[in-house]
Amino acid sequence: MADSCVFCAIVEGRIPSHKVYEDEKTLAFLDIHPSAPGHTLVIPKAHVARVEDLLEEDARYLFAALHRIVWRIQEAVGAPASTISINNGRESGQEVPHVHIHVIPRGKGDRGGII
Ligand code: AMP
Ligand code: ZN
Repeated sequence: MADSCVFCAIVEGRIPSHKVYEDEKTLAFLDIHPSAPGHTLVIPKAHVARVEDLLEEDARYLFAALHRIVWRIQEAVGAPASTISINNGRESGQEVPHVHIHVIPRGKGDRGGII
């Protein structure tokens, strides 16, 4: 899709990733700089920068994928909870301009703080 986009490169297999989930419209893989073990990014395969740019169908798939995998991610690392977040736009701290949902497993006393 977008030649210079690192997440499109992952979708297309041009750069490696540790995939944890994939369907027709969605991919999830481990964050390369995890905030906690199991830190996962869930992305639409289509290149769009921001949530409001998503096709409604892609948004539905994205959240359905999140719903399907969040408990599995938590279970895989023995975490009772997770912080789920989206940086939406450069000024919010979004570094990769391809929509992605952060799933960060959380545990009591991990000092991760809240958003
Ligand atoms: P954000 O600041 O919300 O745009 O977050 C971008 C995230 O993408 C960061 O947590 C990075 O560690 C992660 N990231 C960047 N490049 C890669 C990559 N090649 N594979 C996996 N995660 C990446
Ligand atoms: Zn992209």
